[in-house]
Parts: sequence; C-alpha cells; structure tokens
Amino acid sequence: MQFASAASHDLQSPLRKIVGFAEILRETIAGNNADTDEALNFITESGKRMQTLVRDLLHYSQISAQTFESAPLVFTDVLEDVLDDLAIDIKDSGAVVGVDGQLPDCVGAESEIRRLLQNLLSNAIKYSARVESPKVRISATDNQNGPPVYAIRDNGIGIPAQHHNKVFQVFRRLHAVHEYEGTGIGLAICKGIVDRHGGRLWLESSENEGSTFFSTLAKS
Ligand code: ADP
Repeated sequence: MQFASAASHDLQSPLRKIVGFAEILRETIAGNNADTDEALNFITESGKRMQTLVRDLLHYSQISAQTFESAPLVFTDVLEDVLDDLAIDIKDSGAVVGVDGQLPDCVGAESEIRRLLQNLLSNAIKYSARVESPKVRISATDNQNGPPVYAIRDNGIGIPAQHHNKVFQVFRRLHAVHEYEGTGIGLAICKGIVDRHGGRLWLESSENEGSTFFSTLAKS
C-alpha cells in the first residue's frame, strides 16, 4: 500500500504538466484544424480522468496508513455538512433527500465519516434510474446492546445480487464511464474507513429495485 501511495503521489506532477501543456496547446492552435482540436480534447479529457483516478487511489492508499483521531460526533451535524457539500448535485439531479426518525450519534474521525457519507450519498444520487428523480432516505437503528446501524436507501438502478461483494473492490465498476461517471474507488474507500473504525459495511439491493447501504459505527 505504501507503494501505491508513493506511486500515485509521484504520478500527480507529470500528469499536471501533461494536462496543463495540452490546454496551452489547445488554446494556441484552436480552430486551425478540426482533427487536431479533437485529438487535443481527447488528451485533456483523458489526462483529467487520470488525475481523478490517481487522486482517488492516493486517498484509498492513505486510509490504512494514516492514524485516525476518533472523537464523539453529532451525526446530524456531519450529515448536514455533507448535504451542504452535495447541494449542487442534489439541485441538478432534482433529488429529494430526507431523514427518517432520529439519527444516533457515533464515535469516529470526522473527516473520514464525512467522506464515507459523501461517497454513499453521491452514489445514491448518481445511480438513478433516470425515469424519476432520485429519492434518498437516511435512517438508523439505535440498538441497546450493539452499535447503531445507519442506512442510506435510494430508488436507483439497484445492484444485482452477484455483484454485491464486488462493488467494494478497487476499480470494480458495473457501468461504463459514459453511462455513469466514476473511478470505481469510492466504495473501496468507504469499506476501508468503516473497517478502520471497527464497523461493518454491507448492502441490500436487487436490479431496478434501489439499493440500501448499511454501516455500523461505534456508539458515542
Ligand atoms: P464509482 O466511482 O464507479 O461510483 P464506487 O466504488 O463508488 O465507484 O462504486 C462501485 C460501483 O458500484 C459503481 O460503479 C456502481 O456500478 C455500483 N454502485 C455504487 N453505489 C451504487 C448505488 N447506490 N446504486 C447502484 N449501483 C451502485
């Protein structure tokens, strides 16, 4: 994992140069030749996608390496911050996101729990069936004798049973990038975060029936 971290870190600088110089070239010679314009567009777009992949891979490789500062968290405050960050995605997609019942507090590293919720909620909005706007519900079960179980439910395209474990692996995607944008690293990051917090992350879903992602986190 240290290798992945160092490699992705070292890849960032040459990639920045490739994308930067391709953009300068594009601005300099734009409009002279349609084929050259198209080729330069491909270089810039592919370079940017590679930058996103490298950035996500770096995040993923850092999860197991870094030390977490866990603290009691007011879950609804963290959730509110994440929903603020996702405000544009929510508005653009017409998603309706809501909370059912009380959400218990938990213990965790705030930046990581925030990233967990951010990834799960942005997927819930992104993997929409597109026949109706995304509907996302957040709820939790507060257990007396165990950790709370948080649930994020969507009405999207769903995930067939045979892929339930695969989606948590790095670079596992069920769709092409032109159908749904993504790097295939988000759920692997979520799994890493929940594992590091001593919790469990799983899903219930079937094709075209929406998905629910469940996570346990330590009780505060
Ligand atoms: P990506 O960057 O591709 O979204 P993720 O690791 O977050 O990567 O997810 C892996 C794959 O799992 C996605 O490509 C998608 O096929 C599937 N997936 C994740 N979340 C959902 C969801 N809420 N509904 C349907 N499919 C999902």
